Amino acid sequence: DHDLAPRMRRVRPSPTAAISDKVRALAAAGHAVINLGEGELDFATPAHICAAGIAAIEAGDTKYTPVAGTAALKRAIIAKFDRDNGLAFRPDEVIAGAGAKQLVFNALLATVAPGDEVVVPAPYWVSYPDMVALADGEPRIVACGAADGWKLTPAALEAAITPRTRWLILNSPGNPTGAVYSPAEIAALCAVLLRHPRVLVMADDIYEHLVYTGVFATPAAIEPRLADRILTINGVSKSHSMTGWRLGFAGGPAWLVAAMQTLQSQSTSNPSSISQAAAVAALDGDQSFLAGWRETLRRRRDLVLDAVARIDGLRAEVPQGAFYVWVDCSGLLGARRPSGARLAGDLDVAEHLLEEAHVGLVHGSAFGAPGHLRIAYALEEDTLAEAMARIAAACARLR
Ligand code: PLP
Repeated sequence: DHDLAPRMRRVRPSPTAAISDKVRALAAAGHAVINLGEGELDFATPAHICAAGIAAIEAGDTKYTPVAGTAALKRAIIAKFDRDNGLAFRPDEVIAGAGAKQLVFNALLATVAPGDEVVVPAPYWVSYPDMVALADGEPRIVACGAADGWKLTPAALEAAITPRTRWLILNSPGNPTGAVYSPAEIAALCAVLLRHPRVLVMADDIYEHLVYTGVFATPAAIEPRLADRILTINGVSKSHSMTGWRLGFAGGPAWLVAAMQTLQSQSTSNPSSISQAAAVAALDGDQSFLAGWRETLRRRRDLVLDAVARIDGLRAEVPQGAFYVWVDCSGLLGARRPSGARLAGDLDVAEHLLEEAHVGLVHGSAFGAPGHLRIAYALEEDTLAEAMARIAAACARLR
């Protein structure tokens, strides 16, 4: 066998990518598969942003840039944090990277010592625990329940913190549940963190602009006394439908940003110069299209919720943000598939729906919460309606 590094034993391929592979294989075999598994909006990147990317290529803006981003992009990032979040950063306190994902990874790699713990509320974005493990840390998974809206409570946070705790990762609006922390809920968590000065806070704000009910709030704005240990991470992947451009950014204390820059300088270097130019246009440009996107997404969300409510064995609450419906499928467990096989867990349910309904979605265990499914409603309403009809039919075939 191949002699891989020991650290490879601490990382699994992303389970969402695994679903996409299966979906592609079925599609290649000629099946009309509908993929509700991908965390990606179907909207085109707005034209003015694409135009800025094309203009960058034509202007010869195709060379290395400063590792942490061009001066123009840093200015646009600083202006965004100021405008949307009321946060003031200097140029040495912001950094751009190849997606928010790279910034999360570099921040952990730069700060986590072997055995350090990182508090990860579950359900969580699939990459957090594996990134912590790759950085030689211990993910400290804290299960959050439906009764708390899938959100971390101050008491659960207090109980999870030990002398080894290095980070709390907070993701609001959250993937996979769509949960949005209110300003008061964030303030209550910050009150706990004020008592634990070694703990850093990673605010993953990537779904900031996709909030349907309630308001978006971010820890650095809620509790300025913590600002010197909060890293606020964001990007244009979800807000401007730019997943493929790979452009994320972060703002935080200069010492941390400098360390992230050092790692980046010895690994990926600057994010694409073309994507940086496009991101300047995204951040500086008109944001009014977002209201239309939110309206479209809200209608899709309601379509999915209505359909789920009519399927025996499935249940879902109204998610406040992001573009996911978090479905409790525990009512289906124990049922038999037409083949006679029993549905023992959420992975079996996802497999049944993929094989019988040709609908791809991700099982809750991938997010640290068994008994659930995540439906991404990032497709046209007709397609979503067709997918939900197929799911209903496949569930009706269970015995
Ligand atoms: N953070 C969360 C919670 C996400 O769901 C995702 C993408 O799915 C990311 C970060 C990664 O975003 P990017 O495309 O900017 O790397």
